[in-house]
Amino acid sequence: MFLFETTTSQVSGGFFIIYMYNFDMKQKIVFYNTATRKKEEFKPIKEGKVGIYSCGPTVYWNQHVGNMYAYLFTDILVRTLKYLGFEVKQVMNLTDVGQLTSDADTGEDKMELGAKREGISVWDVAKKYEKQFFESEKLLNINRPDVVCPATEYVKEQIELIQQIEKNGFTYIISDGIYFDSSKFPDYAKFANLRLEEMKDTDRDEISKEKRNPSDFVLWKFSPRNEKRQMEWDSPWGKGFPGWHIECTAMSVKHLGDHFDIHTGGIDHIPVHHTNEIAQGYGAFGHQTANFWIHNGWVVGKNGAKMSKSLGNIFTAQELVEKEIDPLAYRYLFLTTHYRKGLEFTLENLIIISETYAKLRKTVAEWSSGGKINDIYQEKFKEMISNDLALPEVIALVWKLVKDETVLAKDKKATIIDFDKVLGLDLDKKEVKEQIPDEIKKLADDRVLAKAEKNWVEADRLRGEIKNMGYEVEDGKDSYKLKKIK
Ligand SMILES: [Zn+2]
Repeated sequence: MFLFETTTSQVSGGFFIIYMYNFDMKQKIVFYNTATRKKEEFKPIKEGKVGIYSCGPTVYWNQHVGNMYAYLFTDILVRTLKYLGFEVKQVMNLTDVGQLTSDADTGEDKMELGAKREGISVWDVAKKYEKQFFESEKLLNINRPDVVCPATEYVKEQIELIQQIEKNGFTYIISDGIYFDSSKFPDYAKFANLRLEEMKDTDRDEISKEKRNPSDFVLWKFSPRNEKRQMEWDSPWGKGFPGWHIECTAMSVKHLGDHFDIHTGGIDHIPVHHTNEIAQGYGAFGHQTANFWIHNGWVVGKNGAKMSKSLGNIFTAQELVEKEIDPLAYRYLFLTTHYRKGLEFTLENLIIISETYAKLRKTVAEWSSGGKINDIYQEKFKEMISNDLALPEVIALVWKLVKDETVLAKDKKATIIDFDKVLGLDLDKKEVKEQIPDEIKKLADDRVLAKAEKNWVEADRLRGEIKNMGYEVEDGKDSYKLKKIK
């Protein structure tokens, strides 16, 4: 049953804005809330409207598809809430200052590290990797959040928030900065079930001796005395830069208020970053800023191996394109496991799953349009997405519908395209990525060998043979591309 609700609000000048929701009141929505360690019914603070804050990337290096997992999750979360009739405002930060190589406020600034590595300014590093991040989002059909806020554009808000926390008596100053005194927040350990008595500072340097508690964290770090940083600002406490955690509290509160619905991030954020965000909220406002804390699992390699570019077991979305793999196959792969479980990623698996995904797209493309949505399947779909985003079940439901002979093909198409508002798999698009036949790939590989042996006659002959079979081979630096001749 759909209920149509209308609210009116007066704005200056006497105009009226009318919002319409088709908010399905009967559908109970549950999410797993890390704050309570259980699935809880989700009800927004303001009826019909949801505010979401998502921890975004640190723009100091390429984001690979493992990093992009968190943003696929938030994209599906936002799409789900919109599908269920909510008006959603999503805010995401870009960390372009303040994150050090160690979570314990020590080590090098990641942005400065990127600048040294590439011989360009930190500002250019930020620009370069912001671009790479947004291109990856586009390739993976991730909608851009309503507000994207780089930390460097909110230094004033961060300073004001630290002043508020200071006024409430939660801070102290030592030689390298102003710190949050975690012992002043009685529930500091609760969110992550930390065992504070076992916590020790890993770095036995002067700073850790000055800190009152090992779990205290920096709010504003002073610039080193004899060194000019590329990124530094004046503050009431001295020249320096904000700590990593303060940006998320400052920017979420700025755009969503000091009490909003959902905060997202990867599970790695639970013990430090989000624990500290909660402490900052308590220090500034006396309460938690977010009602729901929802965390996604991690992407790992084969048998749980760490993913890294140097190990060669992970790729950027752009690299998938170079390998002729549709990046949306990775999006499909994401949908096949639950977001809290994370994913074991191998290129071999992705190639296999890309064939399943291509088959689904081809099947839907071949059906005629003009059908209507099947109510029974749509109800099931709503139930599944409302149950903590049970996406693997949704994928099973999609294939069940594909094979269901009691439903007309055009109705199947209408139903699956409706689901795709959440899934984002471009199932309404006609063109299906052509799979290159193995025999063509074999000829192209033979041609690489012939070229290596400087057997140009054979290489040309193979190029001709490939052409006769309808494909064109284009040479890259260390690779080749095959294209179907139109
Ligand atoms: Zn954050």
